Amino acid sequence: MQMHKSTFKIRKKFDQYFLKDKNIAKKIVKNLSFQNYDAVVEIGPGLGILTQYLLNLYCRHQVFLIEIDRELISFLKKNFPISKNRIIHKDFLKWNPEEMNLHNFAIIGNFPYGISSQIIFHILKYNQYIPECIGMFQKELAKRITSHEGEKNYGILSVLVQTFYDVKYLFTVKKQVFFPIPNVKSAVISFKKKNEILSCNKDLLFKCVKTAFNQRRKKLKNSLKLFNHISNFYQIPFLNKRAEELSVKEFLQLTKEIEIRR
Ligand code: SAH
Repeated sequence: MQMHKSTFKIRKKFDQYFLKDKNIAKKIVKNLSFQNYDAVVEIGPGLGILTQYLLNLYCRHQVFLIEIDRELISFLKKNFPISKNRIIHKDFLKWNPEEMNLHNFAIIGNFPYGISSQIIFHILKYNQYIPECIGMFQKELAKRITSHEGEKNYGILSVLVQTFYDVKYLFTVKKQVFFPIPNVKSAVISFKKKNEILSCNKDLLFKCVKTAFNQRRKKLKNSLKLFNHISNFYQIPFLNKRAEELSVKEFLQLTKEIEIRR
């Protein structure tokens, strides 16, 4: 199963840092709740260190792998023949689950760090189909996703992910367990769909949160000036607070208040 390092070209442009430690791989996979989903989709399986545990622990016919590197695709097909028809050569950012008729699936992966934020936005785009996600991120990004109001790392990703998911920082992973060794530490976090998601206009929420955090230290009445033409703008609650102080729930309320005045 091992692919010798010298026979394989590591592609920096695809952010390839392969996990070497099997215990960590097992620990990541075991964090999935293994509920009755249509599928588990692994993003960037690489040499398949997570994949082997996934196939052991989950119904193997429901494991889908999405990998961008052609060379890794042939490696994976050779090593996981059982999954041959479910190994997809594709850029995850261009993948649309609707095309495969997947409407209830979990996501797992040691994500390519350079595009992790974009991966999250792609997950959020299809969040209604994705009840759960376990992912390895750069530690700093993992902290941002799991922070709460008033904390240093609280920002756009914290609010947007936590609107739809309960998030949990699971554990930190040191650099030395990868080859090549990256410059930064990593961390594994989980997203589980909230029992109750307050309904609001998703596009408007994204716009409010992004605009508010562009000037995170300004009061919302100033940072959200773009909306001040709407009727009774100044009666909206929270305008004297700053983005960094506003909870996820308050952001949702704020969005609703803007929505009804438009
Ligand atoms: N999961 C493996 C590899 C992690 S490295 C492990 O833990 O060892 C990141 C992986 O994501 C690489 O295999 C890389 O080729 C793949 N990748 C990078 N960009 C991608 C994209 N846009 N879509 C799908 N896979 C991608």
